[in-house]
Amino acid sequence: MSLPTQLVHADDKNNRVPDIVTPINVSTTFRYDNNDLIPWAEREDYSFMDERPIYSRLAHPNATRVESVLSEVLHAETVVYSSGCSAYFALLTHFNPKRVFMGQCYHGCRSIANIFTRNWKLEQHPLEIDVILELAQEGDIVHLESPVNPYGTSFDIQAFADATHSKGALLVIDSTFAPPPLQDAWEFGADVIMHSATKYFGGHSDLLAGAIAVKDKAIAEKLRDDRCYLGTNIANLEAFLLLRSLRTFEMRIKTQSENTFKIVEHLDATKTYYPDVLDGIYHSSLQDDPFVKRQLKGGFGPVFAIRLKTKDQCKRFPQLLKYFHHATSLGGIESLVEWRALTDPHIEQTLIRISVGVEAANDLIDDLSKALQYLQDVEQS
Ligand SMILES: *Cc1c(COP(=O)(O)O)cnc(C)c1O
Repeated sequence: MSLPTQLVHADDKNNRVPDIVTPINVSTTFRYDNNDLIPWAEREDYSFMDERPIYSRLAHPNATRVESVLSEVLHAETVVYSSGCSAYFALLTHFNPKRVFMGQCYHGCRSIANIFTRNWKLEQHPLEIDVILELAQEGDIVHLESPVNPYGTSFDIQAFADATHSKGALLVIDSTFAPPPLQDAWEFGADVIMHSATKYFGGHSDLLAGAIAVKDKAIAEKLRDDRCYLGTNIANLEAFLLLRSLRTFEMRIKTQSENTFKIVEHLDATKTYYPDVLDGIYHSSLQDDPFVKRQLKGGFGPVFAIRLKTKDQCKRFPQLLKYFHHATSLGGIESLVEWRALTDPHIEQTLIRISVGVEAANDLIDDLSKALQYLQDVEQS
């Protein structure tokens, strides 16, 4: 099955009723099957819950379907969560590293590591190859986000994998900014791949979800076990919404990726028109390193960033746009723009992050160009 077919059919095996659109299940509890009354302690595995759920914190029909689809899409056993953050929490809880190596990344993942540091003295070290080679030990975690929030630029995954594995540590790739078919981090040595499914898989800015993909089925089972008691399973309604979203995921991500490439190409070609406003453009498509095209073989990610000359311009720029809502988050079908300092306490204060939606690329280009021109004219007058 190729990706578009997986998205529509990978969960056909989970059909329970003749409905074409899966029903929204709101039940937390399900009648036992009187022909299958086996004590929990005597169960060999818990896959029976795929057909006969017991309680929705453990498993429920649409979450099972979502896992069927994402396990195909991500080429590995995939466990879903109530958010990207709860996925990351589950990951640290399961692997329980003594050290984690982190650099620029989603600030929420850093904050979760801080909880582990506070409670259990998890050591945090910089995400640098030299530091990994010096300090990493067996069972440690190297956490690499590529492309990275909020810049949309890429790191060399293979180089980090080689250093990580030479020390017996594990490489976790947060691939939220470049889901398949854009990037397949398994090809470059990832041991675990995580996604905030709130972003591109969800795609409509109306649900929170997260996913962890692992190659080892036994680890996935342990993650599911922990999830029962952490209480971080995806909720019933969210699972329905995510399944609905996955059906159109490939069309959306393709359009968003193509739009972004066109927009960044245009801005880069015209950047000299705005000498008093535009101070930098960041995106993987502007990186020369050969690993970037190898990693993003299916297209560049749909987030990029620009740096403006002043904080005042950053305050005004989002308000000048017609087709970009000024809001945080990314991945939805609608384009968003954010003065990043509004939510990220650690970021440079003149950075604007742009999440590109599925509108017509030309309209988005016109919109951004007009806003930059307006600010340039203000500076000149
Ligand atoms: C949004 C995001 C997360 C956290 O996901 P939530 O679903 O908001 O909890 C983690 N990593 C990256 C790269 C993100 O963009």
